[in-house]
Amino acid sequence: MSLLVIGTVAFDQVETPFGASGKIIGGAATYVSLAASYFLKNNIHLVSVVGDDFPQSGIENFHRRGIGTEGLEIKKGEKSFFWHGRYRADMNSRDTLETQLNVLADFNPVLPESLKELDFLMLGNLVPAVQKSVLNQMNKRPKLTVMDTMNFWMDTAWDELIETIKLVDVLTINDEEARQLTGEYSLVVAAQKILTMGPKYLVIKKGENGALLFHGKEVFYAPALPLEEVFDPTGAGDSFAGGFIGYLAATGDLSFENMKRAVIYGSAIASFCVEKFGIERVTDLRQEELDARIKEFVHLVQFDINLA
Ligand code: AMP
Repeated sequence: MSLLVIGTVAFDQVETPFGASGKIIGGAATYVSLAASYFLKNNIHLVSVVGDDFPQSGIENFHRRGIGTEGLEIKKGEKSFFWHGRYRADMNSRDTLETQLNVLADFNPVLPESLKELDFLMLGNLVPAVQKSVLNQMNKRPKLTVMDTMNFWMDTAWDELIETIKLVDVLTINDEEARQLTGEYSLVVAAQKILTMGPKYLVIKKGENGALLFHGKEVFYAPALPLEEVFDPTGAGDSFAGGFIGYLAATGDLSFENMKRAVIYGSAIASFCVEKFGIERVTDLRQEELDARIKEFVHLVQFDINLA
């Protein structure tokens, strides 16, 4: 199976209680595609935009992981999207200090013919109208479309966001965003509302408290791995989404049982992402490390109980 990923490819500046990153490579599509590349080899294609300040080494990094960049536009004389965030002491909540859209302000991707036929579509965090436009350019409906978004677009592009959410199969958002989207405090009630807005599946990410997968009346809960040290949570949500859709695209199985496995794989990749600043950890993971971590997840949640 093949996967098309859209989203930001960016520069980030991150501050955590452990230190400051300086200006590093980030972006939703960066994390998504790198995470997905551990499941789907050589069949991931990226659609995004950067300025000519984006380093060639960053693009080569995608190629090393088998990610096609024929859909990555490089705008001469312009600057890449820039995000500056600061995590609070709990490392679960963060404040956005600055968002510079730069090249993203008038990004209007035209998909090359070769990308319009891909099987799976990840609408990573990006201007909702652009997410919708890419979905509409596909020649046929993808086998599965997963969408991620964030509070920034709820604050600045509400109507387009709601229209785009209507069209997708799976929405992944964090707990605070689910509350903002629905006006409901209870995540169960919020999930019920979101499942009437278009998506058939919903993943609510709860940071160090794991993730919930909702579908109809079914709910599945995956914990986050209790880690001794969370160094930088940036990109955890995107890495989760990349692992989730990458696993589904690699297996081609869209049953709820397989979605549960995809949630575990997504959680495993996210657990690596937070160990270091930026994309460092999701760039050079070894298969043995990933396999060992999946075993830790299984061990964490498995128990026997005899009910009389
Ligand atoms: P996450 O920590 O997974 O929620 O995502 C972090 C990434 O999102 C960072 O690498 C940022 O570059 C990117 N990002 C921040 N704000 C936005 C935004 N408004 N739209 C798209 N991507 C963003």
